[in-house]
Amino acid sequence: MSAKYLCPKCRISVNVGDQIVLIGKTKNGLKGVVVLKSELGNYTTLFSDDFPIFEGNKLSLSCPLCRASLSTRKQKNIAHLKMIDQEDNEATIFFSQIYGEKCTFKIEGKQVTQSFGDDKDQYKPDWLIEEL
Ligand SMILES: [Zn+2]
Repeated sequence: MSAKYLCPKCRISVNVGDQIVLIGKTKNGLKGVVVLKSELGNYTTLFSDDFPIFEGNKLSLSCPLCRASLSTRKQKNIAHLKMIDQEDNEATIFFSQIYGEKCTFKIEGKQVTQSFGDDKDQYKPDWLIEEL
């Protein structure tokens, strides 16, 4: 079994097999389904029909179950989810909500334990850790 991803608010699992299903909204009010790969560092993303998203478009991601926003308070370009691994350890995963921007941090406790993506240096994980 692979890792499980949970909404930080309702703590219901949002992954289906190796995909994570979320709701996305653009600044001008377009809404659709966003499907991410659960493998960290894999930035393949799918969008529902009638949801035209292009590289550089910024989304606001939310939980499909409770509708809570997944944006982080201090850095609105970044969303977060909880991850439970095979050994039942809990981590927080931070990732960019800008389509095409590759940046993912895995934080356990107050430590960045893994980071991925060519754009990760644009963000300071310290800001994110403060929010935990
Ligand atoms: Zn939720």
